[in-house]
Parts: sequence; structure tokens; C-alpha cells
Amino acid sequence: MGSQFESEKLLSRVEDIVRKHHEFFRNSLPMIASENLTSSFVRRYYTSDLGHRYAEGKVNERFYQGCAYIDEIEEMAIKLTKKLFDAEHANVQPISGVTANIAGFFALTNPGDLIMSLSVPCGGHISHDTISAAGIRGLDVIHYPFNNEEMEIDVDETRKLAMEKKPRLFVLGSSLILFPQPVKEISELASEISAKVMFDASHVLGLIAGKKFQDPLREGADIVTGSTHKTFFGPQRAIILSRKELADKVDKAVFPGVVSNHHLNTLAGYVVAVIEMLEFGKEYARDVVRNAKKLAESLYNYGFDVVGANRGFTESHQVAVDVSKIGGGEKVARELERINIVLNKNLLPWDSMEKTSNPSGIRLGVQELTRLGMKENEMEEIADIFYLKLMKDESDAKLRERVIELKSRFRTIKYTFEEEEAYEF
Ligand SMILES: *Cc1c(COP(=O)(O)O)cnc(C)c1O
Repeated sequence: MGSQFESEKLLSRVEDIVRKHHEFFRNSLPMIASENLTSSFVRRYYTSDLGHRYAEGKVNERFYQGCAYIDEIEEMAIKLTKKLFDAEHANVQPISGVTANIAGFFALTNPGDLIMSLSVPCGGHISHDTISAAGIRGLDVIHYPFNNEEMEIDVDETRKLAMEKKPRLFVLGSSLILFPQPVKEISELASEISAKVMFDASHVLGLIAGKKFQDPLREGADIVTGSTHKTFFGPQRAIILSRKELADKVDKAVFPGVVSNHHLNTLAGYVVAVIEMLEFGKEYARDVVRNAKKLAESLYNYGFDVVGANRGFTESHQVAVDVSKIGGGEKVARELERINIVLNKNLLPWDSMEKTSNPSGIRLGVQELTRLGMKENEMEEIADIFYLKLMKDESDAKLRERVIELKSRFRTIKYTFEEEEAYEF
């Protein structure tokens, strides 16, 4: 009996915590570049019975019974994904971006191979390095020479280094990604030394779907991996796209390589997200990039050191700001959280890895604000709040009120079939 009383207390504590989380986000400006909202059309399947089942293997080649309807859902997921990205092959089973990358490495490399990827300060994801997925596969890693002024891979220097070291795989795509990358040039280089190219589209998958970024498959990438929940409208999982010749290798790398069951409740949600992308993706991606440019330009006009100024700041959902002169990324991110603006500190190409806990930069993403319907006017207003907080030291109480007022006008999810309340729980 005593233990039941204890359980009730614990249960109400969980309820209370989750409610507070909702309340905080309801009143905040979410600007983490790797996050987004899902519509209720996507969410409604999370709690379905699908989340209790297993479906190992491929459609119509399962190991357990009871998969007839799961097969239908997965078949839809594959078919619609191929259509959206104009891809010859799609695997929709990876449960996250890192899992997709491990599968990509299984498909395209052997242990002991050398790969080339972007260093973390230059925007690379940890999974492209020996500390994470690449290390799990036993790969050695060298980094692309990078041009800090252009915020871009230095293709000429890369060619020299690659001809000397002969990597087996070039990894492109990154976590700090302001501009399209030289996929075409690197793919040409790769084919000269019989290497492969993997583009990790985790951040920009929704922009690629909306035809507002580069098209890595057409530019020569052998496979494209990507999380489905950053600029894309989906739940937290991932996909791998490839040409037909690599289909078998990719599928085997995913199962039995890195998943057995693959979280079928979010698979159904993913199908709905693809339908939303087909219907609204172009308009959404256009608005996202427009908002990012406007935010960057407004911050720049207030005197912030916005990265990429000589190239128009950004062609993606992201804006990067060097805040080393006003306290550094750690302090600035914390200060902004006090007025309900949520973003992250970020290493910039000129930082060493030792600066991870207090890097020079902050990274901003506008994809979620855009999904809530914010447009260029709101981007200007947000830049003004940044200015007052970080350069004029206006009081937290006053600015938090302003953030809450601004957010109160943007609490429904757009680019879906019916406008709907974003924070219902
Ligand atoms: C976010 C990210 C990942 C990891 O994705 P998860 O779904 O969080 O596992 C992989 N690669 C890049 C470039 C990313 O930005």
C-alpha cells in the first residue's frame, strides 16, 4: 500500500514535468536548428498499436506473422519517399540519423578504410568522426581543407589531399550548413579514385524535398542519409536514398546491420509527413530560406557578426553568429534562454575542439518558427529582441514579456491540412 502511494506521487510528478515542458515551449521561441514540430496528423499514430509490434526484414519478407498492414504502411512509405526525392531506391527503416549513417558506412566501406569528412568546427556531425559512427565501423578519418571566408570546402586543396591519401568515401552534408556544398566537384574527384560519396542531409532534408537546396542525388552522391525531423515534417527517425545498384547493400546494412524492429508507430507518422511535404513542401522551404536570410540581414544591420556576410549569410534554414566579442556562445545561449529564446552554442571553423564548452558561435534555425507561420516581419522583431538583450542589456522581465506576446500570436501549425494548436497535450 505504501508503495502504491509512492507510485501515485511519482506519476503525478511525471505529469507535472511534461506539462511544464509544454508550457515553456508554448511561451518560447524555438530556434534549435535540428528541431521542428509535427502536426497532429503525424502525431496521431504514435500511440497506436503499431508501436507494440515487430516487423523485421523487408516488406513481404518478414520473419514474424501479423505484418500484413505494417507491410502496406511501409510500402507506402517507400513509394512516396522515392516519389518525393525522385530516388531509385529508398530505405525508410533507420530509427535515427546516426543509425542511418552507421548503415551508410556498413554499405560503402570496410573496417580500416580511410574516409574524408568535415571536422566538427567546420560543421561536421560527430557521427562522421572516429568518436562516433565512423569509429564503430573502424574507419580512419581525415578532414576536408576548409575556406573560412567562404564557409565552404576548399575543393582545390581537397583534391591535392585526396590524391595523396586516397580516401574510400567522401562524406558531405553537415550540422552547420549555410550553403550548398560542392557535391558535383567532390563526386567527380571520387570517381577518379573509385571512391564513393555519401551526403548526410539530416539538416536540410526538408529543404531538398521542397526543391530549395541542392539535389545531391543528381549532383553525383551515391547515397543520401538524413534525419526526418529537422527541416523535414516527420517524427524522429531517418531514411537512406540511393541508386538502384546500391539497393541491396543499403538494405542489408540497415537490416540486419543496424535495426531489427524499426519503431512502427513513428513509421506511420512518417508517411503522413511525406504526404504533407508533397503537398506543402515547396511553399514551406521557400518561406524558411526567406526567413533565414531576413533574420541574418536584420542581425547584421544591428551590428552582429553574422557568419557568411560576403555570400548573403545563408541559403538554408540556419544563421550562424560569431558572439566571441559579446561573451561567447555559452554565455549568450544561456542569457537568451532566460528570455525564452531557445538555441544552441556552436563551434565555428576558427575554433579549436578545446572550445567545445564555450565556442565562438551560436546557431539559429528558423524552420520551426516558419512552421508556426512567422514571416519576415517577425524575423525583424526577433533581431530587435536580440539587440536589446545582448547589446543594450534591457531587462529580462520586459524582454521575456515581449517574447511571450510575440509567441502568443503563433501557436498553430501551418503547412498542413488544417491549422491546428501546436502545444495541446
Ligand atoms: C542531427 C544530425 C545527425 C543525427 O541525427 P539523429 O537523428 O539525431 O541521430 C546526423 N548527421 C547530421 C549532419 C546531423 O546534423
